[in-house]
Amino acid sequence: MSNKGNLIVISAPSGSGKTSLALRVLQRVPGLEFSVSHTTRQPRPGERHGVEYYFVPVGQFEEMIEAGEFLEHARVHGNYYGTGVRFVQERLEAGVDVLLDIDVQGARQVKAARPDVASVFILPPSTEVLEERLRQRAQDSSEAIDRRLEVARQEIRSFEEYDFLVVNDDLETSARELQSIVLAVRCRTAVQRDRAAGIVARFGG
Ligand code: 5GP
Repeated sequence: MSNKGNLIVISAPSGSGKTSLALRVLQRVPGLEFSVSHTTRQPRPGERHGVEYYFVPVGQFEEMIEAGEFLEHARVHGNYYGTGVRFVQERLEAGVDVLLDIDVQGARQVKAARPDVASVFILPPSTEVLEERLRQRAQDSSEAIDRRLEVARQEIRSFEEYDFLVVNDDLETSARELQSIVLAVRCRTAVQRDRAAGIVARFGG
Protein backbone atom coordinates (compact mmCIF):
# COMPACT_ATOMS: atom_id res chain seq x y z
CA MET A 1 0.00 0.00 0.00
CA SER A 2 1.28 3.46 -0.84
CA ASN A 3 2.37 5.82 1.91
CA LYS A 4 1.18 9.15 0.49
CA GLY A 5 -1.67 9.54 2.97
CA ASN A 6 -1.64 8.68 6.67
CA LEU A 7 -3.75 5.99 8.24
CA ILE A 8 -5.20 6.90 11.64
CA VAL A 9 -7.11 4.42 13.78
CA ILE A 10 -9.36 5.40 16.66
CA SER A 11 -10.77 2.86 19.09
CA ALA A 12 -13.10 3.37 22.00
CA PRO A 13 -15.81 1.46 23.77
CA SER A 14 -19.24 2.30 22.34
CA GLY A 15 -20.83 5.14 24.28
CA SER A 16 -17.53 6.95 24.71
CA GLY A 17 -18.69 9.74 22.40
CA LYS A 18 -16.27 8.69 19.68
CA THR A 19 -18.66 9.22 16.76
CA SER A 20 -19.49 12.86 17.63
CA LEU A 21 -15.81 13.47 18.21
CA ALA A 22 -14.78 11.96 14.87
CA LEU A 23 -17.49 13.94 13.03
CA ARG A 24 -16.32 17.21 14.51
CA VAL A 25 -12.71 16.57 13.54
CA LEU A 26 -13.62 15.37 10.04
CA GLN A 27 -15.52 18.62 9.46
CA ARG A 28 -12.57 20.72 10.52
CA VAL A 29 -9.53 19.00 9.09
CA PRO A 30 -9.21 19.21 5.30
CA GLY A 31 -7.67 16.16 3.66
CA LEU A 32 -9.04 13.74 6.26
CA GLU A 33 -11.75 11.23 5.29
CA PHE A 34 -13.68 8.57 7.17
CA SER A 35 -13.62 4.95 6.09
CA VAL A 36 -17.22 3.69 6.18
CA SER A 37 -17.14 0.12 7.53
CA HIS A 38 -19.26 -2.85 6.54
CA THR A 39 -21.34 -4.47 9.26
CA THR A 40 -23.91 -7.22 9.65
CA ARG A 41 -25.67 -5.48 12.55
CA GLN A 42 -29.10 -3.91 12.04
CA PRO A 43 -29.18 -0.15 11.37
CA ARG A 44 -30.21 2.00 14.36
CA PRO A 45 -32.95 4.57 13.78
CA GLY A 46 -31.57 7.33 11.57
CA GLU A 47 -28.56 5.39 10.32
CA ARG A 48 -28.17 5.30 6.54
CA HIS A 49 -26.56 2.70 4.32
CA GLY A 50 -23.27 4.05 3.00
CA VAL A 51 -23.06 6.86 5.59
CA GLU A 52 -22.57 5.35 9.06
CA TYR A 53 -22.02 1.83 7.69
CA TYR A 54 -22.63 -0.39 4.70
CA PHE A 55 -25.23 -2.74 6.19
CA VAL A 56 -24.82 -6.16 4.58
CA PRO A 57 -26.18 -9.67 5.21
CA VAL A 58 -23.90 -12.23 6.93
CA GLY A 59 -23.57 -14.28 3.70
CA GLN A 60 -22.28 -11.29 1.76
CA PHE A 61 -19.87 -10.36 4.54
CA GLU A 62 -18.45 -13.89 4.59
CA GLU A 63 -18.01 -13.84 0.80
CA MET A 64 -16.11 -10.55 1.16
CA ILE A 65 -13.81 -12.14 3.76
CA GLU A 66 -13.14 -15.04 1.34
CA ALA A 67 -12.42 -12.62 -1.50
CA GLY A 68 -9.86 -10.72 0.64
CA GLU A 69 -11.85 -7.50 0.46
CA PHE A 70 -11.14 -6.44 4.05
CA LEU A 71 -8.07 -4.71 5.45
CA GLU A 72 -9.27 -6.06 8.80
CA HIS A 73 -12.45 -7.54 10.18
CA ALA A 74 -13.71 -8.71 13.55
CA ARG A 75 -16.78 -9.93 15.40
CA VAL A 76 -17.94 -7.28 17.88
CA HIS A 77 -21.06 -7.62 20.07
CA GLY A 78 -22.09 -10.70 18.04
CA ASN A 79 -21.92 -8.97 14.65
CA TYR A 80 -19.30 -8.75 11.94
CA TYR A 81 -17.54 -5.43 11.25
CA GLY A 82 -14.88 -4.84 8.61
CA THR A 83 -12.88 -2.17 6.79
CA GLY A 84 -12.96 -2.40 3.00
CA VAL A 85 -9.41 -2.42 1.69
CA ARG A 86 -10.17 -0.80 -1.69
CA PHE A 87 -11.41 2.57 -0.40
CA VAL A 88 -8.54 2.89 2.09
CA GLN A 89 -5.92 2.03 -0.51
CA GLU A 90 -7.36 4.37 -3.11
CA ARG A 91 -7.57 7.37 -0.75
CA LEU A 92 -4.10 6.82 0.72
CA GLU A 93 -2.66 6.64 -2.79
CA ALA A 94 -4.44 9.92 -3.58
CA GLY A 95 -2.61 11.49 -0.61
CA VAL A 96 -5.69 11.70 1.61
CA ASP A 97 -5.49 10.78 5.30
CA VAL A 98 -7.97 8.09 6.32
CA LEU A 99 -9.62 7.74 9.71
CA LEU A 100 -10.74 4.26 10.80
CA ASP A 101 -13.13 3.88 13.73
CA ILE A 102 -12.58 0.24 14.66
CA ASP A 103 -12.40 -1.97 17.72
CA VAL A 104 -9.28 -3.19 19.53
CA GLN A 105 -9.08 -6.49 17.61
CA GLY A 106 -9.28 -4.64 14.28
CA ALA A 107 -6.67 -2.09 15.38
CA ARG A 108 -4.25 -4.93 16.16
CA GLN A 109 -4.74 -6.37 12.67
CA VAL A 110 -4.15 -2.99 11.04
CA LYS A 111 -1.01 -2.42 13.12
CA ALA A 112 0.36 -5.80 12.04
CA ALA A 113 -0.34 -5.04 8.36
CA ARG A 114 0.75 -1.38 8.48
CA PRO A 115 3.20 -0.58 11.29
CA ASP A 116 3.16 3.11 10.29
CA VAL A 117 -0.48 3.49 11.38
CA ALA A 118 -1.11 6.11 14.08
CA SER A 119 -3.48 4.86 16.75
CA VAL A 120 -5.62 6.79 19.20
CA PHE A 121 -7.60 5.39 22.13
CA ILE A 122 -10.62 7.36 23.33
CA LEU A 123 -11.43 6.77 27.00
CA PRO A 124 -14.72 7.79 28.60
CA PRO A 125 -14.10 9.89 31.74
CA SER A 126 -15.65 7.24 34.02
CA THR A 127 -17.66 4.03 34.02
CA GLU A 128 -20.72 5.98 35.28
CA VAL A 129 -20.57 8.40 32.36
CA LEU A 130 -20.21 5.52 29.89
CA GLU A 131 -23.20 3.66 31.31
CA GLU A 132 -25.31 6.83 31.36
CA ARG A 133 -24.43 7.62 27.72
CA LEU A 134 -25.30 4.08 26.63
CA ARG A 135 -28.63 4.10 28.45
CA GLN A 136 -29.52 7.62 27.26
CA ARG A 137 -28.94 6.59 23.68
CA ALA A 138 -31.76 4.06 24.25
CA GLN A 139 -31.26 2.64 20.79
CA ASP A 140 -30.23 -0.76 22.01
CA SER A 141 -32.04 -3.31 24.18
CA SER A 142 -31.12 -3.63 27.85
CA GLU A 143 -29.23 -6.89 27.13
CA ALA A 144 -27.34 -5.22 24.27
CA ILE A 145 -26.34 -2.37 26.60
CA ASP A 146 -25.12 -4.84 29.25
CA ARG A 147 -23.12 -6.67 26.57
CA ARG A 148 -21.58 -3.38 25.40
CA LEU A 149 -20.63 -2.46 28.99
CA GLU A 150 -18.94 -5.82 29.47
CA VAL A 151 -17.00 -5.43 26.20
CA ALA A 152 -16.08 -1.87 27.25
CA ARG A 153 -14.60 -3.20 30.52
CA GLN A 154 -12.37 -5.54 28.50
CA GLU A 155 -11.48 -3.00 25.80
CA ILE A 156 -10.34 -0.14 28.01
CA ARG A 157 -7.57 -2.35 29.39
CA SER A 158 -5.92 -2.16 25.95
CA PHE A 159 -5.29 1.59 25.99
CA GLU A 160 -1.53 1.14 26.37
CA GLU A 161 -1.28 -0.51 22.95
CA TYR A 162 -2.13 2.88 21.38
CA ASP A 163 0.16 5.79 20.45
CA PHE A 164 -2.19 8.51 21.74
CA LEU A 165 -4.90 8.77 24.37
CA VAL A 166 -7.84 11.17 24.55
CA VAL A 167 -10.11 11.23 27.62
CA ASN A 168 -13.46 12.32 26.24
CA ASP A 169 -14.86 14.43 29.04
CA ASP A 170 -15.59 17.64 27.16
CA LEU A 171 -16.34 17.18 23.43
CA GLU A 172 -14.71 20.41 22.27
CA THR A 173 -11.49 19.83 24.24
CA SER A 174 -11.28 16.26 22.93
CA ALA A 175 -11.93 17.42 19.36
CA ARG A 176 -9.04 19.86 19.62
CA GLU A 177 -6.82 17.10 20.99
CA LEU A 178 -7.72 14.69 18.19
CA GLN A 179 -7.25 17.45 15.63
CA SER A 180 -3.77 18.12 17.04
CA ILE A 181 -2.93 14.43 16.82
CA VAL A 182 -3.84 14.37 13.11
CA LEU A 183 -1.66 17.45 12.52
CA ALA A 184 1.21 15.92 14.52
CA VAL A 185 1.01 12.73 12.43
CA ARG A 186 1.36 14.86 9.31
CA CYS A 187 4.52 16.43 10.78
CA ARG A 188 6.26 13.10 11.43
CA THR A 189 9.78 13.11 9.99
CA ALA A 190 9.13 9.88 8.11
CA VAL A 191 6.06 11.42 6.47
CA GLN A 192 7.94 14.56 5.43
CA ARG A 193 11.14 12.83 4.33
CA ASP A 194 10.80 13.53 0.56
CA ARG A 195 9.82 17.15 1.11
CA ALA A 196 12.67 17.69 3.56
CA ALA A 197 15.17 15.97 1.27
CA GLY A 198 14.21 18.43 -1.50
CA ILE A 199 14.80 21.41 0.80
CA VAL A 200 18.05 20.01 2.18
CA ALA A 201 19.37 19.23 -1.34
CA ARG A 202 19.00 22.87 -2.33
CA PHE A 203 21.31 23.88 0.52
CA GLY A 204 24.11 22.13 -1.36
CA GLY A 205 27.42 21.37 0.31
P1 5GP B 1 -21.41 0.26 16.83
O1 5GP B 1 -22.21 -0.97 16.55
O2 5GP B 1 -21.70 0.86 18.18
O3 5GP B 1 -21.48 1.26 15.71
O4 5GP B 1 -19.88 -0.19 16.86
C1 5GP B 1 -19.48 -1.21 17.72
C2 5GP B 1 -17.98 -1.35 17.69
O5 5GP B 1 -17.54 -1.82 16.41
C3 5GP B 1 -17.21 -0.05 17.94
O6 5GP B 1 -16.18 -0.33 18.88
C4 5GP B 1 -16.61 0.28 16.61
O7 5GP B 1 -15.38 0.97 16.73
C5 5GP B 1 -16.40 -1.10 16.04
N1 5GP B 1 -16.26 -1.07 14.58
C6 5GP B 1 -16.93 -0.30 13.69
N2 5GP B 1 -16.51 -0.54 12.44
C7 5GP B 1 -15.55 -1.49 12.55
C8 5GP B 1 -14.71 -2.14 11.59
O8 5GP B 1 -14.76 -1.91 10.39
N3 5GP B 1 -13.84 -3.06 12.08
C9 5GP B 1 -13.73 -3.35 13.41
N4 5GP B 1 -12.83 -4.25 13.77
N5 5GP B 1 -14.49 -2.75 14.33
C10 5GP B 1 -15.39 -1.83 13.91
